Amino acid sequence: MALTGIEIFKLLPGGQRPPHPKANCKECGIPTCMAFAMKLAAKQVELAACPYVSEESKTKLAESSAPPIRLITLKGPGSSIKAGNEVCLFRHEKTFYNKPGLFVRVKASQANIAAEVAKADAYKVNYVGMDFTVDGFAVEADTLSGTSDPTKFADAVKAVRSATKRPLILVAKDAKVLEAGAAALPGETPLLYGADSANWEAMGDLAKKLNAPLAVCADNLDTLADLTDKLKGKGLEDFVIDPSSTKLGASIAKYTQIRRLALKNFRALGFPVISFACNAADEGIAAAQAIAKYAGFVVLDKFVPELLYGLLVLRENIYTDPQKPIQVTPGIYEINNPKPESPVLITTNFSITYFAVANEVEGSGLPAWLLVCDAEGMSVLTAWAAGKFDSERIAKAIKGFNVASKVSRKRVVLPGHVAVLSGELEAELPDWEIRVGPREAVDLPGYMKTALNN
Ligand code: SF4
Repeated sequence: MALTGIEIFKLLPGGQRPPHPKANCKECGIPTCMAFAMKLAAKQVELAACPYVSEESKTKLAESSAPPIRLITLKGPGSSIKAGNEVCLFRHEKTFYNKPGLFVRVKASQANIAAEVAKADAYKVNYVGMDFTVDGFAVEADTLSGTSDPTKFADAVKAVRSATKRPLILVAKDAKVLEAGAAALPGETPLLYGADSANWEAMGDLAKKLNAPLAVCADNLDTLADLTDKLKGKGLEDFVIDPSSTKLGASIAKYTQIRRLALKNFRALGFPVISFACNAADEGIAAAQAIAKYAGFVVLDKFVPELLYGLLVLRENIYTDPQKPIQVTPGIYEINNPKPESPVLITTNFSITYFAVANEVEGSGLPAWLLVCDAEGMSVLTAWAAGKFDSERIAKAIKGFNVASKVSRKRVVLPGHVAVLSGELEAELPDWEIRVGPREAVDLPGYMKTALNN
């Protein structure tokens, strides 16, 4: 049961009688022990931030301070993926931490497994400076085709492993089949799927033997909670849960209930959820819904790049910390091998703004220096309105990055949206020529060819 803020306070230095000498010392970054206790109760700080909690109090607080959704990590020989550790229902309350892993299903009975997996494994697309890829593969036994035979399943797992180093989910209802597949993955941590009301004992024994997380499935939450409790009795702790619904309405209702209950510290459901969007009538919508609310792993039917790209972009947007814009490092960037006479373009360090400008200029083939100013990750207009992108900051960046040493002609181009800064910038940089460029990045190549061509 979760402790209240007051109960937590009594276990902290400030709540002891007599108070600990370090009570309210602020070393945790919070002004008082009481405020720290309230934040700890709301899962907004880590207990480790206070160095003065006694061992006895730590033990009492461990349960209360543990994340409401257990962190589960799957490991392959080349990468790993984490799910869980989430602490809120809506990302604006804090942030969402671990992006749901996108896995591509491989049926053990299908042809050309290695070739198909290699295609998906090689997928890589750059999005505002980040490389998007698939996260792993789910190898599924098929009773009808005979691949529930342990040897055939193991062969399929080996074929998948020969083409990718990403983490795997092994899917079968027979523990012997799963064990044969897992034997082909020494030293790895796959997810074993899945335990249900009929096979949970054998699956639990296998998960314990392999020290691997176990997916637990049931079509109602009571059974799901009952199963995780029974499996905990076997000494297991790492679960992923599947409320087994392929209908959109039922899925979102169950996933939301699970998240709500987990955040209220209902430990039996405090685990990441796996969505088999691949089994839904409309896979794309089911996968998008699961990414938005609240899956930890999403399994897709096959590798379809156009679907995958949309889902990866959606995931990135949802899992970007709303309080921390994606940023690039301020500095002077070279585009198309600029020469000393090339112009100096100016923009902010908001990642999307940077890439919009850089991509347009790069695509034009025209050489330029791109000066990225620290505007706390805001776009040009937002930063200007917030006072984070003004003539003083721009002049400071020009001097700080020693731009003058790179050019023979001291000429800078301001974004058109902040034309109003040109007079002030002239005053800050009297020996520089200040030009006002277009408002939109898409118009930069035309501007550079005409207005800057003199
Ligand atoms: S670190 Fe924070 S919680 Fe710990 S004693 Fe100091 S003020 Fe209190």
